[in-house]
Amino acid sequence: MFELQDAFARKFQYLRLSVTDVCNFKCQYCLPDGYMPDGRKSFLTLDEIRRLVHGFAAMGTSKVRITGGEPSLRKDFTQIIETVAATPGIEKVAMTTNGYRMKKQVADWRQAGLTAINVSVDSLDPRMFHQITGQNRFHEVMDGIDAAFVAGFEQVKVNAVLMRGLNDGDLDRFLAWIKDNPIQLRFIELMQTGEMDELFQRHHVRGAVIKAILLQQGWQQKLKAHNDGPAEVFWHADYKGEIGLIMPYSKDFCASCNRLRVSSLGKLHLCLFGDYGVDLRDLLADDHHQADLQRRLREALVDKKATHFLHEGITGMTPHLASIGG
Ligand code: SAM
Ligand code: SF4
Repeated sequence: MFELQDAFARKFQYLRLSVTDVCNFKCQYCLPDGYMPDGRKSFLTLDEIRRLVHGFAAMGTSKVRITGGEPSLRKDFTQIIETVAATPGIEKVAMTTNGYRMKKQVADWRQAGLTAINVSVDSLDPRMFHQITGQNRFHEVMDGIDAAFVAGFEQVKVNAVLMRGLNDGDLDRFLAWIKDNPIQLRFIELMQTGEMDELFQRHHVRGAVIKAILLQQGWQQKLKAHNDGPAEVFWHADYKGEIGLIMPYSKDFCASCNRLRVSSLGKLHLCLFGDYGVDLRDLLADDHHQADLQRRLREALVDKKATHFLHEGITGMTPHLASIGG
């Protein structure tokens, strides 16, 4: 039945679904001035989300990551998890969050069917965390991670965007943290987006720098399982945690692309850095357009390119990752 495949034989069983552009943080690399409300935007409703995920699942999607903006700011967020988890064919429901609401709500999310959680923590130094995210909430976010373990998650993934001069000296502190904690710490290379230029030049560090240090310290790279995404994952016998490196500027990064994205306005994005989105919303208004939805998805995939063009400084239409979910 598997139907979401492109011209390069890449299969897409993984959907990243943004449910809002709104965010309450001001990460320097994403929304340095905070979210600017645009009164005209109306994000996908619960019913639209249900129909959308149903259409993807009917074509083989088995994993959905709910993202944003900050997805947990949606009042109906727990219902969104329930709706996605209840869709036949969906086996994994993940989310990416800034951690702001985790401490209070993570148990409810788990109960609703959330199976995996990624939380962003760019520094373990509370002052640096504040400087990077614009929010003095380091301790709340860390409490949220503890709450996730208490709620029954066996592993938590933590995202840290690597930034020269800000957190690139934090490796030892991060390593000490994951020694006894089952955390997969994922260093993400800073990606250039439409609204950023100088920041990128100033702060971009290659993940290869971290990789070299890890290998020197006895970390070993895990073999990739079938349909694993582009992250390179490392383990070490002395550590409960793992390290993931997400290096979009590395050679062959796109060869293992396994994901499609839908924005909070219902547009399909074939690549984080593509030039356009394919509108799906007209097919989500009622339950009678599932066949048309699947046809549109299939036709759109024909145009998926082999790779992004970030190396040439071409960042596509994405102004910042809050607009499409990272
Ligand atoms: N608000 C949630 C959060 O921050 O986890 C979810 C949305 S956020 C856009 C998803 C991920 O993208 C976060 O881990 C964030 O650090 C990462 N991100 C945002 N802008 C980025 C950039 N320019 N380069 C690399 N990663 C970025
Ligand atoms: Fe908000 Fe996430 Fe962007 Fe930070 S990275 S501003 S938390 S959407």
